Amino acid sequence: MKKLIIGNFKMNTKPSEFKTYAMALVTKTKGAKNKVVVCPPFTHLAVAKEILSGSKIEFGAQNISDEEKGALTGEISASMIKDLGTNYVILGHSERRTKFKESDKLINKKIKTALANGLKVVLCLGENLQTRTAKQQYNFVRKQLDDNLKGIYENELESVVIAYEPVWAIGTGKTPTSKDIEKMIETIRKEISYLYSEKAGKNVSVVYGGSVNLNNYKKILSNDHVDGVLIGGACLDVDGFAVICRENY
Ligand code: PEP
Repeated sequence: MKKLIIGNFKMNTKPSEFKTYAMALVTKTKGAKNKVVVCPPFTHLAVAKEILSGSKIEFGAQNISDEEKGALTGEISASMIKDLGTNYVILGHSERRTKFKESDKLINKKIKTALANGLKVVLCLGENLQTRTAKQQYNFVRKQLDDNLKGIYENELESVVIAYEPVWAIGTGKTPTSKDIEKMIETIRKEISYLYSEKAGKNVSVVYGGSVNLNNYKKILSNDHVDGVLIGGACLDVDGFAVICRENY
C-alpha cells in the first residue's frame, strides 16, 4: 500500500546542507512507490525548488502567516511559498501551539489561508501527557478537529492531511501502542464523519507522527489504519529516511 512519508526538518540544517541532502534523497528514492514530502525551513525552499523540481519528491513549509500580505515584519505568506513551488504546509504543530502560543482560532485561519492559496495542509493534532493521564485524549483531539476545521468545506478536505502527533511522543523516543494509534485514528475518522459525511471520514488521510525511526517504522507503517508518517528527528539522516521512503507497505 502506498503511504505518505513526510519529513519535518524543524530548525535544522543550512540551505547548502539541504541541497546536498535533497540531491541524495532524489537518487536514493528513485523508484520508491511511497509519496515523499520534505518540509525544510523557509530559507531552503528555493533550493528545494531547484533540486526537487522534476523529481517525485514534493516539498512543504513548516508555517505561514494567517494574513495574505501587509505590514507584518518577519512574516511569510502562503502565496510567497506557493510561488516557490511549495505544495504543502505543516500547521498546528505542537511546537507552534506551545512555544509560539498559536491558538485553535489562529490555526483555523492559517488553514483557510493555505487552502485559498492552493496549498495542501498537514494539520497536526494530539494530546499532551497530562490530558492522556486524565484519559481525555479522545475528547481533546475531537475538539481540536472541531475548532481547527471550522468553516472548512468538505471538498477542501482532499487537501488536508491529519497528523496524529501525541505531544508526549514527539522527540522523546516514546510511541503509543498500535492499538492506541488505531483507536485514535478511528476517533478522528468518526469525528470527520460527524462533521462532514461518512465518505469524508473514510477518505481523509490520517498519518502518525512522534518518534518514528528506523527501529519502529515497519510496525507503524504496516498498520492498515495508518496512511503515512510525519518524521522529525529521524528524517535528518538521509540514508535512514530514504530507507523508510523506499519500503513497500
Ligand atoms: C515532529 O516534530 O513532527 C516529530 C514527529 O518529531 P519526532 O519524529 O522527532 O518525534
